[in-house]
Amino acid sequence: MNASLSAATTPDPYSWQFVDAVKQWVDEHFESIVEELAELVTYKSLAFEGYDRGALEASAHRVAELFSDVGFDEIHHLTETDDGQTSGPAIIGRKHAAGNKPTVLLYAHHDVQPVGDLHAWTTDPWVATERNGRLYGRGTADDKAGIIVHRTAIRALNQLFGEQHGLGLTVFIEGEEEIGSPFFAQFLQNHRQLLSADTIVVADTANWGVGVPALTTSLRGLLDGIIEVTVADHPVHSGLFGGPMLDAITILARIIAELHTPDGDVAVNDLDQSRWTDAVYDESDYRSQSGTVEGLHLAGTGSLADRLWNKAALNIIGIDATPISEASNSIVHTARAKFSMRLGPGMEPAQVMQSVTDYVKSLNAHGARVEVYPGEQGKPFIVESDAETIELMKTSLSDAWGSEAIETGLGGSIPFVADLVEAFPDANILEIARIGTGNW
Ligand SMILES: [Zn+2]
Repeated sequence: MNASLSAATTPDPYSWQFVDAVKQWVDEHFESIVEELAELVTYKSLAFEGYDRGALEASAHRVAELFSDVGFDEIHHLTETDDGQTSGPAIIGRKHAAGNKPTVLLYAHHDVQPVGDLHAWTTDPWVATERNGRLYGRGTADDKAGIIVHRTAIRALNQLFGEQHGLGLTVFIEGEEEIGSPFFAQFLQNHRQLLSADTIVVADTANWGVGVPALTTSLRGLLDGIIEVTVADHPVHSGLFGGPMLDAITILARIIAELHTPDGDVAVNDLDQSRWTDAVYDESDYRSQSGTVEGLHLAGTGSLADRLWNKAALNIIGIDATPISEASNSIVHTARAKFSMRLGPGMEPAQVMQSVTDYVKSLNAHGARVEVYPGEQGKPFIVESDAETIELMKTSLSDAWGSEAIETGLGGSIPFVADLVEAFPDANILEIARIGTGNW
């Protein structure tokens, strides 16, 4: 331990001296912290079906190793099984609280999204590469940075206060967040004791902007489903039958066109859109970060922040129909579209799913058979932590960044957060950014 930070001169955690000592410690170790992150990025930790399970397991082992030297009393490597399915491997590390000191749970996840089209990457997605002060690679932010943030915070705490600081600590590093945390409720049920905490810090959201920290206090929910249109029991020749019969793609397109109002708001009836924010989301930021083509009209009404955080959003994310390469002179008899919705706080996914189904079935489909198949659902979330804890977190973030922290909503969804709220209604849940990530 650094002599100036020995037990006799341990700084008061609420003082500038403490903030400065933490900053100094992080500065001194920054390079090795980034190296740890880069090493973690090399694991192709995909929980999606069809990917190498061994890589996901290796990633979990590496995570366990990363928490093996931070003074934990126990580390668990956990999977759940049900119906022949196995969950992504999770790591739980714990240090028991001394006396009646509180316990803080630190959450992040080690699984990542598939890399998609490799040609669209400038550099290898599995090699963290620095470009203009940013680190590029799959998981460099979401959410391997979250894991390293937690590890680094515990190391700094140990360094400044000694490992006997007394605070109860639990890290929970999930292995299946990107596939919608299908086993999360079961994890909570089976390991409730391991996971119970007074405060839960989720490091899986983004900052407001570069250098501007954010505490996320609402998350959108999500749901998806498939709309299927059938006009005949087999494809028929357009020369013989074309004219009186519209093809399934045309009717599907007409249904899709009715899912939004002319303004671009979701047209489905009965959506609870009663929550609003005062935050101002800069339109040019939105345009530059999303890469919209020049002249594209932004959809929907109300402030941009409300459209991103509070109102319902609906997109078509895939279509099954005859591909152009196989197109022939026949009338396509069936077509399917997958839709994905983001739900504002207050919207109940099951209810919205029913509203979408009723709405789609009420549309004029020229008598075609229309089915709506529900898919995944995740609830939206609003933080209901006590004001004192939120203030403390905001002050800490502001001190650390040297820039005032703001409360934001988040357009993305983290379905397990709703499960956490349900399992631990009395815990304070705080959502913070992964390392230095920007606004999206
Ligand atoms: Zn994430």
